[in-house]
Amino acid sequence: MSFVELADASNEVNVGGGSIEVMDLHRREISDEQLRRFEQYAAEMFSAFGMELNSPATVDTPRRFVRALLDATAGYEGDPKLLTVFETECRGGPDCRLSQVIEGPIQFYALCEHHALPFYGHAYVGYIAHERIIGISKLTRLVRLFARRFTLQERVGQQIADGLDAMLAPHGVAVYLEAHHLCTQMRGVQETSPLTRTTFWRGEYENNPALRAEFFVACGLQR
Ligand SMILES: [Zn+2]
Ligand SMILES: [Zn+2]
Repeated sequence: MSFVELADASNEVNVGGGSIEVMDLHRREISDEQLRRFEQYAAEMFSAFGMELNSPATVDTPRRFVRALLDATAGYEGDPKLLTVFETECRGGPDCRLSQVIEGPIQFYALCEHHALPFYGHAYVGYIAHERIIGISKLTRLVRLFARRFTLQERVGQQIADGLDAMLAPHGVAVYLEAHHLCTQMRGVQETSPLTRTTFWRGEYENNPALRAEFFVACGLQR
């Protein structure tokens, strides 16, 4: 959902010349020879743990596993489509301060860096624009950029907040994440699929409980 009109593409501006960390591209260089070695490691492990690797269904599983892991961590490579933001008019005063742009739920999938197992859930992102805004689809891209890594829920939220802060220099940023962590759910004691919730506030949101409450209401998360 959106609380302000988004500017049209004619006001597009390029920010930072790629100097902001979130937009930089870091193409991973992994050779075919490396990939083949990784497939052998995976095959050795799967086989030792009990997988029958000689069936038609599983003969390619090590290769698919390595490829899937590579895709699931593509966030390390940056996102060139995050380079553009739009200019808008800051009207200053209370209007500028109270106009929130809120997007969510944005589905995300990440890998926990402690176990390399998935955690997944929803992100809600809000900001109070000053002189720059970002297309709604870019918020989704920003969330995925930081989620598709080996990471932690806390870090994903911080990086989204800091990334948006750096790109837009807004009056405030709000990020709420809720996720299921398979590393706790798939092993040991059966858990009743708990949700881990984290919040991150920047700028106006830090000292304004009413603004935070409005954010949760707008997200449909009022409790
Ligand atoms: Zn874990
Ligand atoms: Zn402003």
